[in-house]
Amino acid sequence: MTEGRSGLFAAFSKGNLVSRSSLMEAFHDSGILEDDIRYLPLLKRLKSCSEQLTEADFQGLQECSPALFEQVLSGQLAIPQFHDFCADVEDIYDKVSLIKDGKLADYIPQLQRVDPEKFSISICSIDGQRMSLGDADDSFCVQSCSKPITYCLALEEHGEEEVHRYVGAEPSGKTFNELALNSKGLPHNPMINAGAIMCGALIKAGSESADRFDYVISRWRDFAGGAKIGFDNAVYLSERQTADRNFALGYFMREKKAFPPDADLLDVLDFYFQCCSIEASTKSLSIIAATLANGGNCPLTGVQVMRPDHVKNCLSLMSSCGMYDFSGEFAFKVGIPAKSGVSGAILLVVPNVAGFAVWSPRLDELGNSVRGVEFCRRLVSRFKFHTFDSMVGLTDDRVDPRRNLYASRFGGITALCWAAYGDDVAEMRRLVAIGIDPASHDYDRRTALHIAASEGKLNSLRYLLSLGVNINPLDRWGKTPLDDAEMQGHQGASSLLAEHGGQRQSAPARKNN
Ligand code: GLN
Repeated sequence: MTEGRSGLFAAFSKGNLVSRSSLMEAFHDSGILEDDIRYLPLLKRLKSCSEQLTEADFQGLQECSPALFEQVLSGQLAIPQFHDFCADVEDIYDKVSLIKDGKLADYIPQLQRVDPEKFSISICSIDGQRMSLGDADDSFCVQSCSKPITYCLALEEHGEEEVHRYVGAEPSGKTFNELALNSKGLPHNPMINAGAIMCGALIKAGSESADRFDYVISRWRDFAGGAKIGFDNAVYLSERQTADRNFALGYFMREKKAFPPDADLLDVLDFYFQCCSIEASTKSLSIIAATLANGGNCPLTGVQVMRPDHVKNCLSLMSSCGMYDFSGEFAFKVGIPAKSGVSGAILLVVPNVAGFAVWSPRLDELGNSVRGVEFCRRLVSRFKFHTFDSMVGLTDDRVDPRRNLYASRFGGITALCWAAYGDDVAEMRRLVAIGIDPASHDYDRRTALHIAASEGKLNSLRYLLSLGVNINPLDRWGKTPLDDAEMQGHQGASSLLAEHGGQRQSAPARKNN
C-alpha cells in the first residue's frame, strides 16, 4: 500500500511537490464530477490546500477517498481514456441532433406539448465517470423506462420462479399495448404494458397505495444514487383518464385469472400509471442504467441496490423485449440491453462498462425515439459495445473504450514484434487470433515484418506474408523490410521478400535524413 502511494506521488510530483491543479485536472478528465459523493471529502480538503502539495498533504488527501484516489490517479477506471470517449460521443450527439424525423406521442396532452427539439444524452460508467450533453437537467416522465425497475422490484420480493408464474419471458412480436396474452393466458413479458401491470401487482401487494408508492420512489432513488427522481402529477392524471387500453388489458388478464388472488385491479392499474409518471432527467437515468450495468451496485454510492442475478434477468429481457416491436432488430444491429418509453427516453445498459440515457421526444411508428435509436446505432458503429463484439478473432476499426488504448493496442503490437523476433509463429498466430492486426505498427511505424526481416527470421516472414500484409510498409526512417534484411545481410530473408514484391526505399529515406 505504502509503496503504491509513494509511486503515485512520484508519478505526479515535480521537485518533490505535486500541483493541486494537476490533481483536480486528473479527476475532471476522468469524468469524476464535483457532486460525486465519493469525491466530495477529497475535493473539500483539496480546495483548502495550497497550490503545491507535499507528500504528507498528498497522503492526507488520499485518506479522504482512498479507493477513488488510487483508481483515478493510476487510470484504473472502466473507461480509461474518458476524455476521448466523450469527444466521440459528442460527435455522435451533434450528428444525431440534425435529425428532425418522427412525431411526438399524442395520446395525452402533456406529451404532445413537449418541445420536440429537446435532446440530451448522459453517461455514467460503472466507476461513476459521468458526462452529459444537451438538455440533461430537464425532467420528463419515464413512461415504459419504468418497466425494468418494476420487474426488478417484483423479482426482489418474490424471486424469479414466483414472478414468472405470472408473466412470461418471450417477446410478444406485437406492439407494447396489444390486447394479447400468451397461450397460458399470461402477459408475454415484463417489458410490455400487460407484463408491467402484472409485475406491479406483485410489489408490496398488501400495503397501502401511498406506502407502496413511497417505497417504489425510494428504490428508484437508490438506483439513481440519490439523484433527482420526481413525479409528474399531470401526466399521471392524464394517463389515468386516457387508459382504455390498459383497463382492457387489466380486465382481460382478470378474466383469464392471471393476477395473484388478492389483487385489486383498479389499484394495480393506478400503480402502473404512477410508475409511468415518475419523472427523471437523463442525468439520473444514466446512473440507474449504470447501476444495472454494474450488477445492481450503484457506482456512486457503492450500495448493492439489486441482486446481480435479478439484474441479469432484467437485462436479458431488456435485450429481447425492451424496444417494443423493434426489439429483435435492435438486438441484432445494436446488441445492447435497452428500454424505451413513449416520452422519447431510452435507457441503455452496456454490462460491465456504463449506463446511457438518451432523451429526444420525437418517435418513430413503433414508439421509439428516432434520435435515440440513431444514437444507439452510431454508438455501436464507433465502439465495440454489441454483446457479441467480444467474439474472439473479430477485428475491425471500432474502439473498445474499456481498454487502455496504449496498454492494450501497443501492448499487442509489442508482443507481436517480440514473437516475430523470436521466430515464434505459434505465438504470432495466437496474437492474430485474438484480434491483433498483423500489419499494425509501433510509434516508429515499425511492423512485425520489419523486425522479422531485420533479424532474418524466415518462419515469421513466411507467416506474415501468408496473411497478405503489405510487404513494403515504411517505418519512420522510410525503410522497408527489404532494406532491413539487406542492411543486416540476411540473404534468405532478402530473397524471400524480393520474390514477394519487396522493394527498396532506402535511397530517398537516407536523403531525408
Ligand atoms: N403510459 C403509456 C401506456 O401505458 C405508454 C407506456 C410506454 O412508454 N410505452 O400505454
